[in-house]
Amino acid sequence: MVLDNLGSSLRGTLNDLRGKSRISEDDIDNVVKEIQRSLLQADVDTSLVMDLSDSIKTRALEEEPPSSTSARDWVLRVVYEEMVDLIGESTELPLEPQTIMLAGLYGSGKTTTAAKMAWWFSKKGLRPAVIQTDTDRPGAYDQSKQMAENAEVDFYGDPDENDPVTIAEEGLEATADADIRIVDTAGRDGLNQELIDQIERIDDAVNPDRNLLVIDAAMGQSAKEQAQEFEESIGIDGVAITKLDGTAKGGGALAAVNETDSSIAFLGTGETVQDIERFEPSGFISRLLGMGDLKQLTERVERAMEETQAEDEDWDPENMLEGEFTLKDMRHQMSAMDKMGPLDQVMDMIPGMGGGLMDQLPDDAMDVTKDRMREFEVIMDSMTEKELEQPRSIGASQVKRIAHGSGTSEERVQELLEQHKMMSKTLNQFQGMGDADMERMMKQMGG
Ligand code: GDP
Repeated sequence: MVLDNLGSSLRGTLNDLRGKSRISEDDIDNVVKEIQRSLLQADVDTSLVMDLSDSIKTRALEEEPPSSTSARDWVLRVVYEEMVDLIGESTELPLEPQTIMLAGLYGSGKTTTAAKMAWWFSKKGLRPAVIQTDTDRPGAYDQSKQMAENAEVDFYGDPDENDPVTIAEEGLEATADADIRIVDTAGRDGLNQELIDQIERIDDAVNPDRNLLVIDAAMGQSAKEQAQEFEESIGIDGVAITKLDGTAKGGGALAAVNETDSSIAFLGTGETVQDIERFEPSGFISRLLGMGDLKQLTERVERAMEETQAEDEDWDPENMLEGEFTLKDMRHQMSAMDKMGPLDQVMDMIPGMGGGLMDQLPDDAMDVTKDRMREFEVIMDSMTEKELEQPRSIGASQVKRIAHGSGTSEERVQELLEQHKMMSKTLNQFQGMGDADMERMMKQMGG
């Protein structure tokens, strides 16, 4: 998204401050200009941008920076804090039984978000159900049912019923066993009175604990007006911004959040049910500013590891750090990598790696990696148990046999073995590291 540019453009300006211990008005003017340019390009509301600029300027110049803080770090901190302040806290979402209704324009991603949220709550140990009341869009029922299946959550819908209010009422009864009920509604223009009447009636029938507005990140300034209408008719408690994985600008969504005086609850970053993140202001802004988001990264890694382990109960990631790193470990690690999601998203979360570094790679670089990983899988399928456990036992004749069996070439098999050696070496270095070393490394990455 365009807001991503903020990190890379700001970094240049901030680097000019390196080595300085005090900042001048000119310095801060440059930083503020950079921020304004990025935010306005991203469709953020002009008055919001101006307010933000003023507060950054005042604080950076007038407040006394903590001792031993460089000018660069001080400015970065002020920018970070002011932006976190602008975006506000994440929408409160207690992990307890509740009904949540989704509203939004046609195509904004409601149906997808309903299933994603259900998946998210199910990972928190609750029992969610999706209730589909969209009777307008042909295919909404099937899509919703399929996605609920993918998310492995309960589902209620009735393709033969035309009245969404009836479906909503029957849905609540039918899903009485669920803890979390997510009511999806038909897409509507916030300015179309007939549809507004309809959602008000569903709102009355369902009496949800929370109403979330789903907004496509690509939406510009009109998001603000839409948000206003929904806020007036049913009241909006939080916003889910979808399609942040695309080239969307994101600024309109921020204006909508501000307009409804609400907050962001979730971020959608892809088309599958797992592509959802709970919004965390500090991590989000860190990522925007190219400072990385270690918390999200850790969560993703942990989830991917858990899933990989669930597939093969005999495999214990802990062994990898202690004993010898085998080809089996490598295969599991590759599979976990695959589950972490698109590599560019993962990279954005690593401090110092975000902010467009990936943009410098050719578009197909990542696909090649994926293809290569698949090929490695096929090669490993042709290996014996012993070879997987003791890769060092693989000699020239085995390489030949494996290449033949997997329908690849000897070079590819050698490549796989090389890759394994490299990973093994890296891991050895980690094994020799104490916590203090790790901490130092993290600090280096963050700076
Ligand atoms: P609805 O009309 O509001 O229910 O919208 P849908 O849930 O049907 O979504 C419309 C389209 O956007 C579908 O093709 C979805 O796959 C896609 N979509 C939804 N959320 C995301 C997202 O976070 N990222 C991407 N890339 N696509 C999304």
